[in-house]
Amino acid sequence: MLTQSHLAHRTRNMGASAIREILKVVSRPGMISLAGGIPAPESFPMHILQDIIDTVIRKYGSRAFQYDLTEGFLPLREALVGYLAAKGIDAAADKILITSGSQGILDGLGKILITPGDRVAVEAPTYLGALQAFAPYAPRYVQIDTDDQGMRPDALEQALSTQSIKFVYLVANFQNPTGRTLPMQRRKAIADIIRRHDTLLLEDDPYGDLRYRGTPLSPINVLAPDQVVYISTLSKVLAPGLRIGFCLAPALIRRWLVLAKQGVDLHTSTFNQALAAEYLYGGHLDRHLPRIIALYRPRQHAMLEAMQRFFPSEFSWSRPDGGMFVWVQGPSGMDMKIVNQQAIARNVAFVPGTFFFARPGDGRETLRLNYTMADESTLYRAIKVLGDVFREAMTQIPDWRQAV
Ligand code: PMP
Repeated sequence: MLTQSHLAHRTRNMGASAIREILKVVSRPGMISLAGGIPAPESFPMHILQDIIDTVIRKYGSRAFQYDLTEGFLPLREALVGYLAAKGIDAAADKILITSGSQGILDGLGKILITPGDRVAVEAPTYLGALQAFAPYAPRYVQIDTDDQGMRPDALEQALSTQSIKFVYLVANFQNPTGRTLPMQRRKAIADIIRRHDTLLLEDDPYGDLRYRGTPLSPINVLAPDQVVYISTLSKVLAPGLRIGFCLAPALIRRWLVLAKQGVDLHTSTFNQALAAEYLYGGHLDRHLPRIIALYRPRQHAMLEAMQRFFPSEFSWSRPDGGMFVWVQGPSGMDMKIVNQQAIARNVAFVPGTFFFARPGDGRETLRLNYTMADESTLYRAIKVLGDVFREAMTQIPDWRQAV
């Protein structure tokens, strides 16, 4: 009979995603889910995809259906050079690697960088999918404190000065789960710290293009190109189902990432890469991105307005300049896992924040809300219900007044 002992030690480190379990429950009819983290289907450029597909077949013919380089389809890498240049990143096609979603890069980086027991520094809270990607390689997570402006440079400095840390992982723009953005001053401070400590930084930037106000900030990669792997994706600005992620990495890292990827899938789908290349070359992204922003900005606005109106005054939350999420902090003593069950009973769901912390048990009184998947009036209704659920839950914390 097969038992756990048939599995590798590594395999046993792969926890089932608690969020997937929540997402299963919330697919029930009638449920308003603020739990997901996915783009709205109406944000996909369906009206131009047929034309792009025709162009791909005309332009590349059988090449779009053949095996290709592990590094990635050259026309896509060349198109990404221009895309990255607009962000101030000086990239050459031979420094870029295309992977199957940016998730594929996180796994590859875990594989080539982490020896079991190595320390990996992450924001508290951080992207759950990164924790999951690295987990099989058995790192020890070091949580770096954050505030309204993201990772605190003094906390990072403290961690790097007192222990040996293999790499730092962070999301600088409209972070998942908090929506927070690192201001320029902090980017400079963090670039300076990782340079001084000769540490590698993984800068994950899936949301940078989804900016609803303010001016874009330089990636940390621009400030310390030799120390930073810049990771991004077309999942939020084209379509996640195509699974096109990419990274710009120092030569040593890229070389090993390519070898790791070769063993996993040889390369990312040639056809999908060709489609992504034409989306960029044809100027479609530049034309379509404002439509995605015009879809999400009012949704975010509606959610924030409703929160102001319906959430108890003991709650605070982020007011992100972009992205897909708002982060909420309730009064201490509240357990948002329990509150989520109460909300689900009233047909509204969110993700309890505790799942996004590397240290078990942290963030019990926090939660993540997504606003891309519902229209404004639905969001308004859902937040009103949550306001009621929170008020009820507060009466169930016997001494919450003292706890606050
Ligand atoms: N990084 C972050 C911070 C994310 O939020 C996500 C997706 N939600 C990913 C990486 C993975 O995206 P993909 O694999 O679709 O590129």
